[in-house]
Amino acid sequence: MRAKLIAANWKMNGSFALIDEMLKALSPLLEKTSCDVVILPPDVFLFSLKKAIEGTRIEVGAQNVHSETSGAFTGETSAPLLQACGAQWCIVGHSERRMLFSETDEFIRGKTETLLRHGIRPILCIGETLEQRESGNHEEVVVAQLGKGLSGLAADDQLRCVVAYEPIWAIGTGKTATPEQANSMHRIIRKELESLASSEVADKMQILYGGSVNAENADTLLSQSEIDGALVGGASLKTDAFPQIVAAGN
Ligand code: PEP
Repeated sequence: MRAKLIAANWKMNGSFALIDEMLKALSPLLEKTSCDVVILPPDVFLFSLKKAIEGTRIEVGAQNVHSETSGAFTGETSAPLLQACGAQWCIVGHSERRMLFSETDEFIRGKTETLLRHGIRPILCIGETLEQRESGNHEEVVVAQLGKGLSGLAADDQLRCVVAYEPIWAIGTGKTATPEQANSMHRIIRKELESLASSEVADKMQILYGGSVNAENADTLLSQSEIDGALVGGASLKTDAFPQIVAAGN
């Protein structure tokens, strides 16, 4: 039985006040829920968030990393630096980075390997554009991104990764994949994991859904057999909605 994981991607938002308010809103719930919670704020808040969650079940992560571990990369953050701030997780391959910063599958793979070497668990995002879905290419695109992200990694390393299926047309648009569309793509991803990794990896790896998850649709999405949690953007900044999504993961 895979545990549910709810991950909050704050993107380029948040504040010191939101850290306190969100933890206050989540704390009554944490004793009652078995689901895992990860908050991924902008890097500047990592250290403060790490201190603030001490003694709770919440974990912290970053939204991006460079594949190199040090050097002349102005403005970038390395895995050792994230580790020093307490990051336990890091998103790689988010569609905003793929599209706005032209990140390639090769660069993303380098980031994943570097994170794993530094004990940080990657959340690998994969997903198709609307055009790719409408032309019937979506399965091929997602399977190719998955393969480039994970194949050839040691089994132990694959087991440290989480995959987030995020159809690009559903991110920040208010347009959610139907529970059936999401569940069916998750099933394809799990089947592919069996051939590119092993049946153990396919069975154990958590596959999250991301794309306009909110307090209203979380219950239905999270009750699908293949959906092991959610990567939440916009609604993860709301102190009323995010705890409700965590509660839906119970
Ligand atoms: C995301 O950024 O990963 C995301 C899923 O955003 P939203 O929930 O706002 O669609």
